[in-house]
Amino acid sequence: MSELFVYSADLHIHGCYSGATSNRMVISTIAQQAKLKGLSFIGTGDVLHPKWFEGIKADLTEVAEGTYEHPRYGTRFVLTVEVEDKRRVHHLFILPSLSAVEDLRKDLAKHSIDMDADGRARVELSAPELVETATAHGCLIGPCHAFTPWTSMYKEFDSIRACYEDRTRDIKFLELGLSADTFMADRIRELSDVTFLSNSDAHSPWPDKLGREFNRFALAEPTYEEIIKAIERRNGRKVVLNVGFDPRLGKYHRSACSRCFKQFKLEEAKMLEWRCDKCRGLIKKGVWDRVNELADYPEPRHPPHRPNYLRIAPLAEVVALAFGHTDAHAPEVQDLWGKLVNRFGNEIAVLIDAPIDGVAQVAGRRVAAMVKAFREQQLRVMPGGGGRYGHLEVPPDLVEVRENSGQKTLMEFG
Ligand SMILES: [Zn+2]
Ligand SMILES: [Zn+2]
Repeated sequence: MSELFVYSADLHIHGCYSGATSNRMVISTIAQQAKLKGLSFIGTGDVLHPKWFEGIKADLTEVAEGTYEHPRYGTRFVLTVEVEDKRRVHHLFILPSLSAVEDLRKDLAKHSIDMDADGRARVELSAPELVETATAHGCLIGPCHAFTPWTSMYKEFDSIRACYEDRTRDIKFLELGLSADTFMADRIRELSDVTFLSNSDAHSPWPDKLGREFNRFALAEPTYEEIIKAIERRNGRKVVLNVGFDPRLGKYHRSACSRCFKQFKLEEAKMLEWRCDKCRGLIKKGVWDRVNELADYPEPRHPPHRPNYLRIAPLAEVVALAFGHTDAHAPEVQDLWGKLVNRFGNEIAVLIDAPIDGVAQVAGRRVAAMVKAFREQQLRVMPGGGGRYGHLEVPPDLVEVRENSGQKTLMEFG
């Protein structure tokens, strides 16, 4: 067998023509930011949108079948799109070629009121019909953010079979989404043969969004063909690591009001008939409660092929804690983020691997102490829900050290 190498890939993002995305979400900025993040591969997203498709063809060079490269930054791209079906379930397509994009677009346009309304295409087809169309054009397809309470497979259906019916065998992957991880999803028996993907679904190119979840693939070379082999677990190619949010940081982890974000236990929400007792807003069922409903096992049972799942948080959020706030976009935070990434190569290296002393030299002792506290899981995770992200907090004892004893004592943590 040929020698394999590890490449990091984020296969689900949205470009600037999708709703609620940053106007900085353009190919060259994505390519540049991906490099800083340590990603070799990005899914283009939105490839069925004509303007986005034009941008892809203009800015990228084809280097192998279905594989496109940014000439300046070297970031590679595969063609992807998220499509919403008639039950409002979201599916991720991975496409083999530019001509497949054009053919698929023609087919789907027959079932859409307006394909160009949004980067995320919306069509009046069922999930099995979408699989049929996808496979006819050589695409791989699977459910996006499969547990979220708005537009996901498990929001709408109680099983993968109920969603995809007789085309279930064509589903080779499932996207976990920010609010779930392998430990949760492997409590569901029917998913044991499915490859899990951890993708960012980023709407802006900044490092707390792009690549906030990604996959590490073992491939012979960085191409579309090899990525498909890895998802299908052929010839030794595979996902070797899923890297993603601590699911509690996702915005739908807990059942919560979608208006005021008050969180509820499942029984409470049921008793209130999913209406918030504070503001009458709609309570959205959290991924945690949904997985508990679906689970066949009280504890995860990982199949032998399942890779490890590394729980992370955006580095900028960890850095922000050192300044006593949670604004990952504050200038002083971004400045230190840049210095750290420059020094250690990419964000994951800083979060997971870099020596704490080295972090302190670049970004000071407070930041180093926060990184160390993150690694040792001393930071408190305040779970998200109802559409609001979770966040990290410094536990009171750590704050006391910071405020009362100054930096010298803080070094006991660093
Ligand atoms: Zn989606
Ligand atoms: Zn409310």
